[in-house]
Amino acid sequence: MTEITRMRDRIALIARSLFDRGLTPGSSGNISARLSDGTLLVTPTGSSMGFLDPARISHMGADMTLISGDAPTKEMPLHSAFYDTRGAGAVVHLHSTHAVAHSLLPDIDPDDALPPLTAYSVMRLGKVKLLPFMLPGDPEIGTAIRGLAGQRSAVLLAHHGPVVAGADLEAAVYAMEELEETAKLAILTRGLNPNVLSAAQVAALLKRFPS
Ligand code: ZN
Repeated sequence: MTEITRMRDRIALIARSLFDRGLTPGSSGNISARLSDGTLLVTPTGSSMGFLDPARISHMGADMTLISGDAPTKEMPLHSAFYDTRGAGAVVHLHSTHAVAHSLLPDIDPDDALPPLTAYSVMRLGKVKLLPFMLPGDPEIGTAIRGLAGQRSAVLLAHHGPVVAGADLEAAVYAMEELEETAKLAILTRGLNPNVLSAAQVAALLKRFPS
């Protein structure tokens, strides 16, 4: 089996799992992954994560022209921004419920949108940037991510959903799952004055486990 066939199958399998767990409804969400030759596989525009046909997943050249498959997601600017600024291996964008809910709440620090509640959220995500509302597919989302100069691996689009980049597909998905769970914990404990990790504990985690 060739690399491209293997990766197309892997994307469809993981997308199905995310959809089946209720992490992105309808035809929302998109996934991209880089192949060893620098080309990209991207889920097609209008497709449901639960019902992808692997053969129709978009294969994009390094110059972002379509090589094979259906037309790619309209959110290509946010994907390419992470590849260009972080050298990412994969990017995942979902409309997961708790992350979206968290993005709507008052008194969220846009520079550090999720409280440091658990070790793994700090290790896998670092600080999450909250970006203001922009229209879906707006190239300005890509511009905003480029403005982070590769310093962040995870952003939360207000009224929309999270975007996470990783070294490979599995790393990006695991980090995305951590983001959604941390948003859920933040909502569950909101107003309860929960203990959070101290600045020293966060610094120790980031030093031991750089993201
Ligand atoms: Zn979206």
